[in-house]
Amino acid sequence: MDFAQAQARVAELTRLLEQYNKEYYVLDAPSVDDHTYDLLMHELADLERMFPELLSPDSPTQRVGGAATSGFEKVAHDVRMLSLQDVFSLEEVASFAARCREEIPDVRFSVEPKIDGLSVSLEYRDGRLAIGSTRGDGAVGEDVTANLRTVRSIPLTLPEALPLLEVRGEVYMPRESFAALVRQQEENDEEPFKNPRNAAAGSLRQKDPAVTAKRKLDIFIFNLQQCEGRTFTSHDETLRFLEEQGFHVIPGRRICTTSEEICEAIRAIGDQRPDLPFDIDGVVVKVDALDSRDAMGTTSKTPKWAVAYKFPPEEKETTLRSIEVNVGRTGALTPVAVFDTIGLAGTSVSRAVLHNQDFITERDIRIGDTIVVRKAGDIIPEVLRSTAHLPDSVPYRLPDRCPVCGTAAVRDEDEAVLRCPNISCPAQLHKQLVHFASRDAMNIDGLGPAIVTALLDAGLVHDAADLYAVTPDQLLTLEGFKERSAEKLTAAIAKTKSAPLDRVIFALGIRGIGQKAATLLCDRFGTLEAIEAASPEEIAQIEGFGEIMAESVYAGLRSDSVRVLLERLRAAGLTMPYEKREAATDTAFSGKTVVLTGTLGMKRSEAKALLEAAGAKVSGSVSKKTDYVVAGEDAGGKLTKAQELGITVLSEAEMTAMLGKTASDT
Ligand code: NAD
Repeated sequence: MDFAQAQARVAELTRLLEQYNKEYYVLDAPSVDDHTYDLLMHELADLERMFPELLSPDSPTQRVGGAATSGFEKVAHDVRMLSLQDVFSLEEVASFAARCREEIPDVRFSVEPKIDGLSVSLEYRDGRLAIGSTRGDGAVGEDVTANLRTVRSIPLTLPEALPLLEVRGEVYMPRESFAALVRQQEENDEEPFKNPRNAAAGSLRQKDPAVTAKRKLDIFIFNLQQCEGRTFTSHDETLRFLEEQGFHVIPGRRICTTSEEICEAIRAIGDQRPDLPFDIDGVVVKVDALDSRDAMGTTSKTPKWAVAYKFPPEEKETTLRSIEVNVGRTGALTPVAVFDTIGLAGTSVSRAVLHNQDFITERDIRIGDTIVVRKAGDIIPEVLRSTAHLPDSVPYRLPDRCPVCGTAAVRDEDEAVLRCPNISCPAQLHKQLVHFASRDAMNIDGLGPAIVTALLDAGLVHDAADLYAVTPDQLLTLEGFKERSAEKLTAAIAKTKSAPLDRVIFALGIRGIGQKAATLLCDRFGTLEAIEAASPEEIAQIEGFGEIMAESVYAGLRSDSVRVLLERLRAAGLTMPYEKREAATDTAFSGKTVVLTGTLGMKRSEAKALLEAAGAKVSGSVSKKTDYVVAGEDAGGKLTKAQELGITVLSEAEMTAMLGKTASDT
């Protein structure tokens, strides 16, 4: 590589790493996994070593973490909160130990799990917690005392009231709390945190400590930063003292002397990793004697007396037993690998999506293969590669027929997806009926997946229109129905005969027609007849519809199956009324882009409808174009991002008040 090429690559890497730092440290929403980030950082450091002229003091290789954000008071750290030099092989750990031994012949090391959370400092004055802060850029962090007080394992007073004691620890979110939080975020239709580390960071940097309190954070203390009134000679001694003072001190640490002992301790910690109730991303090896640490010193970013051995992303081998082909609502055939259960990053895994034929062919994945599985971003399992075929195995081909109804599958033009074109395919029918009955579609109370299965199995329904002919007596023949529940369900179904047209159009489940598109179509054409008569050109004129989308909507509406179903729904008595909701042009929200986040008192769909009726565009993600963010309880990353971008944040009450106002009032 010549100088010019290196210069270009350094600029590119700097730009990328700065972007990733912001996503990770400020927005708590990384877009790449840590391993990818670490490799880019090492590439940059290598280039800066080869071409020292390219090393700038602002380079990501020279800086710790991210800057303190504006939402909190700033705290200057008396003792700088440094990062750690990372290494990826045991050989590098051994050479670190050898370097230390050259300087300090009788050196001993503390070998500790590296907790994957975020670093904080806790400062105690006269035995009371005075300030708790984040690391920030190492020199200046954010004052998050109120939030840290909600972490139960942080003692607020200490038995020994030293004039000054500052400790450093890692705040983390236990795996169980993380899983519960993600479930809740998914239910609330919010972007879930990617991993426990980001969840911990997002939860600690909340404006409202009550929200932090609900997130069930915990902490492990791993260093004494400064202390008045006591002296110590070793790290081990300080941690034992801190334990006596009531701190949760880093667990599972060992004191080692030789490189062999260190490597053995690293392996042992690695073996425990899957079973720990919290995430660790490596092992830290530190010189134990405090005077030796002083003698070795630090760089601008890391201490010279420690290294962090980073685990490679957890990968495991297993045997691929079968490939199941799932049939989606629109007939997409999705292959799913079913393999012998393995433990990965704290959970049991036995299935992973194989996406499509191209994915399988590129990796030559065959049934019976030994495959390597990992969790992407430590969350979604993926099959990385096949390492061995059985002697008599053959390349896997997706079936050319739907595995459920046997209809010949077709490959979509321009898509890697294979589809079952049979609209009456039982698998599709099941998913379609569940969709038809769902809350945002026809909203049929009590008609969930299990009852849909029972209705199909009993031959009582063959399409959505049949639902309207089902009688309470027929339902009584199915398991679990009593007179009251049978009456209730038939009444709930009958009620939807007057459901508005946009709900019916959405409920049909036509590819490309989501809730919004259905409303836009109805707003433009008003009646089902007008929609059916519309040409692709007319459909394309609707704002937000491109030509391709218009073509697909046109074709979808004209497909035999949809036409037949619509005819049968009409015959079943559906009236499909529609009243165009005129978007108001004189409200505080007209023309504004609004994002909803957190748990609101009203249903999210209700808030959305109210805002849209007031002329707002409701968007799912926060950007510079967002005008307002309405934040409910437990708002997370989107709220942080809004604060970061200086966007006006409204409470639900403020939103409701503004909905009653006209533009000129605001
Ligand atoms: P780091 O997380 O690799 O290591 C230093 C940190 O380890 C310390 O700040 C400390 O808080 C923590 N730690 C946990 N247990 C410890 C123990 N027992 N002893 C000492 N320290 C312990 O370094 P960093 O500077 O905090 O962050 C850099 C890392 O963050 C990168 O290597 C990368 O993995 C990740 N990152 C990822 C992205 C992304 O986009 N995915 C972006 C930025 C950073």
